[in-house]
Amino acid sequence: MRTPLIAGNWKMNGSHALVDAFGRAFADTALPDSLDVIVLPPFPYLDAARRALADVSVQLGAQTLNPSHAGAHTGEVSGRMLQEFGVEHVLVGHSERRALYRETDDDVYDRLLAALSVGIQPILCVGETLEERDAGHTFDVVLRQVGHALAPLEPEQRARVTIAYEPVWAIGTGRTATPEQAQDVMAAIREYQSGFDPDLAQAMRLLYGGSMSAANAAELLAQPDIDGGLVGGASLKVDDFLAICHSAR
Ligand code: PEP
Repeated sequence: MRTPLIAGNWKMNGSHALVDAFGRAFADTALPDSLDVIVLPPFPYLDAARRALADVSVQLGAQTLNPSHAGAHTGEVSGRMLQEFGVEHVLVGHSERRALYRETDDDVYDRLLAALSVGIQPILCVGETLEERDAGHTFDVVLRQVGHALAPLEPEQRARVTIAYEPVWAIGTGRTATPEQAQDVMAAIREYQSGFDPDLAQAMRLLYGGSMSAANAAELLAQPDIDGGLVGGASLKVDDFLAICHSAR
């Protein structure tokens, strides 16, 4: 049995008020016992979020990291720094990073390694654009992204990676993949993983991301290969985010 995981990616949104609202809401809620929850605020709020969520079982994540540990990289943040702030998870390869900041598969791999090297668990984001889906290239694109990041890893490293399948056309658009569309791709990712290690493939958690909401979460999470969600917009409304968490049973 894989423990469900719901992760809230605030992107470049949020405030101290939102951090406090999350702290209060999670303190007042009994979450399902077998559920992991991660909140991923922007860097400036990590420390406040760590303190606000210290007494509830919510883990802290960051949205990116630099592949270097330190040095002349103005504006960047390293994995070592994140680790000092109690960050346990980090996104790598989010489609916004790939598109807006031109991160390539090699860049994604470097960030993944940097996270693993400091004991932070990477959430590897993969997904096809609408053009790629319409051209029938979904599986090629997604498995290329997965393979580029995971094939060179040692088994022990691979075991620490979570994969989020996020069709680019569904992110922030209000257009969700159907449960069947998501399931098909996620089953293919698990099948691909089986080629390395069937036991690990069964243990590995796969998240769906792309306009997940309180209204559609239960149906998506009911799919056999969907173990949780990476939630963007709906993670900014604490009631919606909690409703999604309660859908993951
Ligand atoms: C995301 O940012 O990873 C995401 C899935 O966003 P949204 O839920 O807003 O589509």
